[in-house]
Amino acid sequence: MQKTVHIIGAGISGLSAAVRLADANYRVHVHEATQQAGGRCRSYFDAATNLTIDNGNHLLLSGNRHAVAYARSIGTEAGLVGPKRAQFPFVDLTTGQRWQLDLGDGRLPFWLFDEARRVPDTGLMDYLALTPLVWAAQSKLVGDAIPCKGTLYERLVQPLLLAALNVDPPEGSAGLAGAVVRETLLAGGQACRPLIARDGLSAVLVEPAIRLLQDKGANIQFGHELRQFGMSANSVGELKFGDGAVAIAPDDAVVMAVPPRAAASLLPGLKTPSRFRAIVNAHFRFDPPTDMPPILGVVGGLVEWLFAFPQRLSVTVSNADRLVDMPREELAQAIWRDICKAGGVRGELPPWQIVRERRATFEATPEQNALRPGAITNWKNLFLAGDWTDTGLPATIEGSVRSGNRAADLVLAMRQA
Ligand SMILES: Cc1cc2nc3c(=O)[nH]c(=O)nc-3n(C[C@H](O)[C@H](O)[C@H](O)COP(=O)(O)OP(=O)(O)OC[C@H]3O[C@@H](n4cnc5c(N)ncnc54)[C@H](O)[C@@H]3O)c2cc1C
Repeated sequence: MQKTVHIIGAGISGLSAAVRLADANYRVHVHEATQQAGGRCRSYFDAATNLTIDNGNHLLLSGNRHAVAYARSIGTEAGLVGPKRAQFPFVDLTTGQRWQLDLGDGRLPFWLFDEARRVPDTGLMDYLALTPLVWAAQSKLVGDAIPCKGTLYERLVQPLLLAALNVDPPEGSAGLAGAVVRETLLAGGQACRPLIARDGLSAVLVEPAIRLLQDKGANIQFGHELRQFGMSANSVGELKFGDGAVAIAPDDAVVMAVPPRAAASLLPGLKTPSRFRAIVNAHFRFDPPTDMPPILGVVGGLVEWLFAFPQRLSVTVSNADRLVDMPREELAQAIWRDICKAGGVRGELPPWQIVRERRATFEATPEQNALRPGAITNWKNLFLAGDWTDTGLPATIEGSVRSGNRAADLVLAMRQA
């Protein structure tokens, strides 16, 4: 008989669990509180720029193998585009110096031994000083594991770890940073090719999943917020929504894939991360010059990464709590000044939009990392997913997909038990 699973939340975690279980012939019900799937990874039409934009520029690396496999499973791997080699052009706005980090395309980090491919003015010893990060304990700070100053730090380690952890690197979890370094820099250029959903996050990572689920007979309800669980003995017996309750049989399963604050209020007593950091993205309607790279790393400015899309220049600023209350126009002007310098473009401020995601990610500090629960709960048919669960990675699409897969695997194991 076909088994039933209810997925609460249609972000990437919930969708990846749903796709895996639909593939395993489950009758899938997805309940999403808002009117749109994708959660923190979504696109929408923006009237100010007259363009469809993403809530944030999301960068994947080719070593994010679960995220890439998820895209493959919904038929959109080809929508994740990037250069053939792991090359990262950078500019330093304080000195005007430009360079390209060339991690090559191999399985081993041979680039470390080639001065021309390393960060300028760095030597092999600088890189060897990073080794304590590779297997650092979860409880350790990045700042206690490696030197957080000097040329290599400023030009590579800081931009990489800031993007990955969304906190100032010295205060970040060395355990999480180590996982990122192991799966990217240490895995050679082959794992570091940047990948972008150039046609938009929703078009590549969200809508095709919804279509696939619907084609497989899944029932997807938007505007359907779970308000409360009804527990019976050691399992979930009922899901209570604003428009009524749904009975859950003991061998039906539930995957809760909502953000930590919602999870903690639905499951009182659940330990979750409680502190978050913002990410600010700014989008400008502007045709990028033809020689502008798709992704440019920027150091020494407000902007950290500059992305060139058709008709649009877009920037990301991580760990951005300090910018959340800054007047929008002032912020747009400041960012545009950085873009002009970094991208070598000129002109008055074009149509723009600023997107401030206040709780973009949980704070990737050792203290908050220790609050992440696993996927198993005290209720035998209820499993957790989400980038904030204990994935071993910071809050990323890769972590989200891993968490969704893990929850789905536990649902499948329940069937076999
Ligand atoms: C601006 C920004 C930039 C980012 N950049 C990157 C990047 O470059 N690379 C990268 O890998 N990651 C990046 N991330 C992180 C990535 O977006 C997240 O890790 C991922 O989207 C989290 O997915 P999720 O499904 O775990 O959670 P969410 O996306 O938060 O999904 C949870 C869903 O649950 C729904 N929900 C909540 N409560 C209920 C309820 N009671 N009932 C029903 N539904 C409910 C929500 O509406 C939401 O749709 C970025 C995030 C942001 C915000």
